[in-house]
Amino acid sequence: MSSVLRFKAVEEAFKKKALCVEAPKQRVPEYYGKYVFNRKAMAKYLSKDTMKAIQNAVDNGQTLERGIADHVAAGMRRWAMELGATHYTHWFQPLTDGTAEKHDSFIDYENGPGESVIEDFSGKLLAQAEPDASSFPNGGIRSTFEARGYTAWDPSSPAFVIEDTLCIPTIFISYTGELLDLKAPLLKALNTVDKAATAVCQYFDPNVKKVYSYLGWEQEYFLIDEGLYATRPDLLLTGRTLLGHESAKNQQLEDHYFGAVPSRVAAFMKDLEFEAYKYAIPLKTRHNEVAPNQFELAPIFGETNLSVDQNLLVMSLMRKVARRHSFRVLMHEKPFAGVNGSGKHNNWSLGTNTGVGLFTPGKTPQENLQFITFVVNSLMAVYKNNALMKASIMTAQNAHRLGANEAPPAIVSAFLGTQISAVLDKLENSTSDEAIVMDDKKRLSLGIAHIPEVLLDNTDRNRTSPFAFTGNRFEFRAVGSSANCSSAMIALNAAMAAQLIEFKTSVDAKIAAGATKDKAIFEVLKEYIKISKPIRFDGNGYSEEWKIEAHKRGLDCETSVPEIYKAYTSKQSVELFAKTGVLTEKELHARNEVKWETYTKKIQIEARVLGDLCLNHIIPVATRYQSLLLDNVSKIKKIYPEKFETLGGMNSALIEEIALHLTAIKTNVDAMVEERKVANKIDHEYDKAVAYHDKVLPYFDVIRYHVDKLELIVDDEMWTLPKYRELLFIR
Ligand code: ADP
Ligand code: MG
Repeated sequence: MSSVLRFKAVEEAFKKKALCVEAPKQRVPEYYGKYVFNRKAMAKYLSKDTMKAIQNAVDNGQTLERGIADHVAAGMRRWAMELGATHYTHWFQPLTDGTAEKHDSFIDYENGPGESVIEDFSGKLLAQAEPDASSFPNGGIRSTFEARGYTAWDPSSPAFVIEDTLCIPTIFISYTGELLDLKAPLLKALNTVDKAATAVCQYFDPNVKKVYSYLGWEQEYFLIDEGLYATRPDLLLTGRTLLGHESAKNQQLEDHYFGAVPSRVAAFMKDLEFEAYKYAIPLKTRHNEVAPNQFELAPIFGETNLSVDQNLLVMSLMRKVARRHSFRVLMHEKPFAGVNGSGKHNNWSLGTNTGVGLFTPGKTPQENLQFITFVVNSLMAVYKNNALMKASIMTAQNAHRLGANEAPPAIVSAFLGTQISAVLDKLENSTSDEAIVMDDKKRLSLGIAHIPEVLLDNTDRNRTSPFAFTGNRFEFRAVGSSANCSSAMIALNAAMAAQLIEFKTSVDAKIAAGATKDKAIFEVLKEYIKISKPIRFDGNGYSEEWKIEAHKRGLDCETSVPEIYKAYTSKQSVELFAKTGVLTEKELHARNEVKWETYTKKIQIEARVLGDLCLNHIIPVATRYQSLLLDNVSKIKKIYPEKFETLGGMNSALIEEIALHLTAIKTNVDAMVEERKVANKIDHEYDKAVAYHDKVLPYFDVIRYHVDKLELIVDDEMWTLPKYRELLFIR
C-alpha cells in the first residue's frame, strides 16, 4: 500500500469521529455510579430488611433466602427499567480471560400463552441461570451430553446496566459443583485469606474482625488508527503484529513517556472516563507509556473482587469507546517487536476492618511488628510458590513480553528496597531477646518503630522487579495486560492464606511451649527471613547475570509456557489449594487442560496467519518487485551491453538478495506447516502444546527475519502492509 493509500485509510476511519460522544457539562459526582445498583440505589428501591440481608450475605457469606432474592430482583428490575433496560444477563467469567453473557428479555406471558405480556424478573432468575457449560472451556469436566452449568449471583459485586441490559455479576459452576470460572475460586481465596489474616491480626489487635484483600490495577494499552488496523490481518486475527521491521524512530528518544497526550487520544481518554464513572470505576491516573502509542490508566484501588470486575468492565468499555474515536485498542502483551509490551501491574495489599493497612508501616511498635509479620509472610508465600506465581500470569502472549528487554524476566523475585531490607537483616542477626526489648518510649529496638519516617523520605523503586514492595503494598508487575487479574489474585491470596495459617500454627506452638507472644513471633519471623532469602533480589532483573544467579538460588527459571503450567499440579500447589479450599486437584488438572488447549490454539492461529501473510502478501509483492528489477536489468543489458557491470550490477545483486529471502521464507513456511500437521495429530493437550512450543513456534522468528529484510528492500508503494512507522505514530 502506498503512503497515499495509507493516508486515505486513516482519513476514512477518521470521518467516523462524528460519532464521538461529548462529555456532559455536569461534574463527575453528579453522574458517578449512575448505572450501578449500589448502596444509594438499593436504599431507594429496597426495604431496610432486604438491604440488611444483602449486607449480611456479603459480609458473612450467608445465603440469601428465596423470598429476599425476590425482593431484590423486583427492586433491581424497577431500577434497571428506569434506566431503559429491557433485558438482563448473568455476567460471568469463564476460563477464556473475557466475560460472557447471554441476554434474556424481561418479558413473560401475562396469563399463560396469549396476547399480552408483562415485564417481570423473579428472585429465581436473579439468583441462578443455566447457560450451556459445554460451550465454554472446562478441561473435560463437562462433556456435551451433560452440559448443565449454573451461574449464581455474587452479591458482593453490584449489578449494572449497559445500554438496554441489566448485568448481574455471577460465578459459574458445573452441575456437580466443580468451579468453571475465575470468580468462584477468587471468592474462595479471598475468604480464606480473610480468615487466616484475621487470626494473625488477633495477636496484635483483638478488634480486628475482618481482613480485606485490595487490588489496584494499572492497565497498559496501545491505540492505533482503525483504518490501518483493518489492513493488518495479523492485528485483526491475533492482536499482535507477526511481521514488521522496526521503525527508524521508536522509543529510543524516550520522548513519549509522560509526554503530552496527543489531542485525539486525550479525547478518547475523557470519553472513556465519562463512561467508566457512570459505572463507579474510579479512574484516577492516565498517562503516556514508554512505547510510542502506548498509554496507561489506573483507578483508585478497591476490594479485590470488585476491582477485578471493574477491570474487566473497563476493558470492554475501552474497546467500545476506542471505536468511537476511530482507534482500535490493543491489549495484547506484545503487539510490536522491539518496543515495550503492555502489562497490568497488580498492586496488592491487605487491610483490616479497623482501617489498618497491613503493608503500611504503623505508628506504634505493635503496628510495626504486625507490618513486618505480614511483609515477611508475603515473602515466604511468594518464595515457596514462585513457580505457581509465574504460572498464574503465564500465557502465550505474555511469554513474548516477559524476558524481552523491557519487562520482568520469567523468574519471580521480590524487591523490598533498602529500608525494609535493612530492618529484616537486622532482625535476622539479632538475638530474639534483643529484638523485643522496648526502650522507655515503648519503641521496639531494631529501628522498626522508625520505618514510617524513613520510608517517607525514601521511596526507592525497582522497575525491573516482578514483585516489588512500594511503600504500602506489593506490586505484582508480571501480570499481562489482556489477563483477568483473578488468576494472579487467586494464586497470591491463596498462597498468603496458606502461609499465614502455617505461621500461626508455629507461633502458637512456641507460645504453648512457654514463649511470650512477641518472642514467639520474632523467632518464627527470624527463621522465615532466613528461609525466604533466595526470593529477595534488589538488583537488575533484566540482566543476564540474574538468570544465572536465580538458577543457583533454586528459583523456577522455566521459560516454556506448557511446562510452566505444571506448577499448578505440583505437590506443593495441590496441597496449597486443598488446604485453603480454593480448588480441588481435579479442578486444577481440568484448568491445565484448558490452558494447554488455549496455548495451542493461539500459536496455531498465529502460525496460520503468518503463513497466509507470507504466501498472499510478502511473496507475491516481493516477486513483483523482483520482476520489475529483472525487466530493468534485461533492458540495460540490451541497450548498454558493454557497460552492464556498472549500470546493472546493483539491481542484479538485489534480484539475488530477494531470491534468497523468498526461498528462505517459502522453505520455512512449508516446514512450519509440516510441523503443524504433526502436532495436530497429537491427542493429549499437554503434548500438543509442547509440540507447538518446541516445533512450531521457533519458525516465527526465522520467517519474520527474512520478511523484515524484504520490507527494507521492496518498493514502499507496493508493500501491502502498513509499517511500524505508520502504525506506531498517531496522526
Ligand atoms: P505507579 O505507576 O507509580 O506504580 P499508579 O498511580 O499508576 O502508580 O498506580 C498505583 C496503583 O496502586 C493505583 O491503582 C492505586 O490505587 C493502587 N494502590 C495504592 N495504594 C494501594 C494499596 N494499599 N493497596 C492496593 N493498591 C494500592
Ligand atoms: Mg505501578
